[in-house]
Amino acid sequence: MDMNIFTLVGEIVVVGVVIILILIAISLILGVYQLENKKLVFPRVLLFAINLTYPTTKRMLKLLNMDELLIDKISIDLRNRLHHNDFKELDAKDVILILPHCLRAQKCPAVLGNSGLECVKCGKCSIGTFKKMCDKKEIGMYVVPGSTFIKQVMKQRPFKAAIGVACPIDLNNMMTSLAPLTTQGAVLLKDGCINTMVNEDDVIDLLNIPKPVTHYTKDEIDNF
Ligand code: SF4
Repeated sequence: MDMNIFTLVGEIVVVGVVIILILIAISLILGVYQLENKKLVFPRVLLFAINLTYPTTKRMLKLLNMDELLIDKISIDLRNRLHHNDFKELDAKDVILILPHCLRAQKCPAVLGNSGLECVKCGKCSIGTFKKMCDKKEIGMYVVPGSTFIKQVMKQRPFKAAIGVACPIDLNNMMTSLAPLTTQGAVLLKDGCINTMVNEDDVIDLLNIPKPVTHYTKDEIDNF
């Protein structure tokens, strides 16, 4: 009798491990295919597999000496593509932009307020450009030092969609935690605690999308 229970438990464990391995394989194979070919393939299955196996997939990538951030990049790309059409239908006033504190210039004169860094558009970093654009389109912009500030932002201003800028892990966490809201994200080009960088054009392109649709370029925005 005892042997039967042990056998049954063993079989359940083996089946569980096999299912997880299959989901990890789906996450990586479909995900890499999607990244390289820039198209969606069974996106809901992929999202389900990523959500269920995220920590295990990360550990496995590390064990195999592979890029641990691969699963974050796959997840961000998937969410960007999945939400893009919904994002195009939104009004700018229903959108917020969440930027990381580390994007500010080293000698930033802004002070930290209740809703994050209060940029004064001094022109020393990209944040000032994004702030000008957000003010023009009435998009809420928040420069936050951490995820706890995002919860504060959610209490302060209702929004239907968020554009996030962060390193792959933080951005993926942000986009995942904000589900089912519409999210779009741009990954930092250079990581770190200060003077990080993002492709400004990528963020400006995203800010141009919500209605009214605009086509501002960085040079035009800097001349506002
Ligand atoms: S543009 Fe804004 S965030 Fe950047 S350094 Fe100036 S005040 Fe700080």
